[in-house]
Amino acid sequence: MEVGSSANHLAADYCGGMPVSPENTVEVRLAFAFDCPNCGAENFVRSVMHEFSPDEQREMGEDLGERPQTGAWITHPEQVVCGQCKAEFKALNPGELVDEKS
Ligand SMILES: [Zn+2]
Repeated sequence: MEVGSSANHLAADYCGGMPVSPENTVEVRLAFAFDCPNCGAENFVRSVMHEFSPDEQREMGEDLGERPQTGAWITHPEQVVCGQCKAEFKALNPGELVDEKS
């Protein structure tokens, strides 16, 4: 397999038995989902990604007492909008919502 300098080089020649080419390949991202309490529509929102410089990765590794961290920090947006009814909501992590009815 030829590996070029491009970040878009393909990691595998075959994926799931399907020949891999730029025409039939997409990169998938992590996303967040919520069901709209207003209209019930299922929504998907893009994640917010922060990539760390090598210095930041080293600092994080020292703070955590681990080897330098790699990769990116992924979180959800603070606010989300329903794609169907356009209602806006503050986004919380699962389990963070306090249900006052129970
Ligand atoms: Zn809605």
